[in-house]
Amino acid sequence: MSEVILTLNAGSSSLKFAVFEFDTTQTTASISGKITGIGRAPEFSARVGDGADLEKGILNHINTASSHEDIIALLLAWLKQHLEDRPLIAIGHRVVHGGSFFAAPTRITDDVLNKLETLNPLAPLHQPHNLAAIRAVSKWHPEVPQFACFDTGFHQTQDRVASLFALPRSLSDEGIVRYGFHGLSYEYIASVLPHHLGQQADARVIVAHLGNGASMCAMKNRQSVATSMGFTALDGLMMGRRCGTLDPGVVLYLMQSKGMTVSQVEALLYRQSGLLGVSGISNHMQVLQDSDDPHAREAIELYAFRAASVLAGLATAIGGLDALVFTAGIGENSALMRHLICDRLAWMGLCLDSEANDENATTISSSHSTVTVLKLPTNEEAVVAKACRSIVANRPIQK
Ligand code: ADP
Repeated sequence: MSEVILTLNAGSSSLKFAVFEFDTTQTTASISGKITGIGRAPEFSARVGDGADLEKGILNHINTASSHEDIIALLLAWLKQHLEDRPLIAIGHRVVHGGSFFAAPTRITDDVLNKLETLNPLAPLHQPHNLAAIRAVSKWHPEVPQFACFDTGFHQTQDRVASLFALPRSLSDEGIVRYGFHGLSYEYIASVLPHHLGQQADARVIVAHLGNGASMCAMKNRQSVATSMGFTALDGLMMGRRCGTLDPGVVLYLMQSKGMTVSQVEALLYRQSGLLGVSGISNHMQVLQDSDDPHAREAIELYAFRAASVLAGLATAIGGLDALVFTAGIGENSALMRHLICDRLAWMGLCLDSEANDENATTISSSHSTVTVLKLPTNEEAVVAKACRSIVANRPIQK
């Protein structure tokens, strides 16, 4: 009976899961799915590897009062049925922040959990939910080993200068530095680059992970040299609901002159800003693209302007640019956003093939472009599964 690994990615209102065979190197999950709208209007979807939808009977037991803990219990029972008694030998979690404690995938113990908990304020949208999922699994299935794979891990190779804030050295020494995020996505893209770029994979590459959260990573030799997110996942690009880079003086002004509390500022920066805040309409790029409202258009233009500016800055960290990769929800689906960003970077030699871009092809740069531009799907779950396989089999983790 072949053994399996489960990956979990728990967010504030969603839980994504994927089941991988243990005894292969496949990056395709045999079952994958998600529960969205937790606490509001829960929805469940799941499919087998070949794309066929699985039954949704689990939804009869989930309601608006169901907590992440209840849902994990239901999901594990539902999976047991679908796994037909194939043993679940490890559960790997995407954990957003490893801080200065952890970079490599780590087996979860009480001590590890306690350390990770101290990082909750640095990733309030993600970390508490990631840890709640770990606790729920420990409660229902304490016998299954659990592993944490960190979004910060990939950026351990960053240049020291790229990781520093211009703050007093004592603060950097205590860990107030730029950690960077979306590392599991960058690691996956780095692993498939040779297939798409050949030797150019090890040259100067920027990956733009443009999802609900968004960041960019400048790589050389497929390792992170610099990235746009910092100490928290607020910095850098404009996002769906997050503001991205902001003059820190604005935060002081909001608190001193407008009397806003810390939690009001936190809500403003993490949940009410970005595409949603600027458009006043939606955090979803497609909704804004379909809107005639000038505020929607302005939000799209600002997003593209900020993305192009950040990209040009990151190119400085690697001395130019040979290839650019778009990935995640906006990067993979919004031909308009890819066009607007690349158009602003024409001076760097970027030139898209409009037809290939509109058709969502893999290579979307034109033959005149001095920079190869690709659109690739990311697969963070495959990176988590690979790490779990290696640890369980006691093998070094291959990048
Ligand atoms: P996350 O994993 O961070 O939740 P995703 O990478 O799935 O996010 O990205 C979700 C975002 O992608 C949506 O909020 C939306 O802005 C964008 N998106 C998804 N589909 C499309 C589409 N067809 N056209 C434009 N934008 C899209």
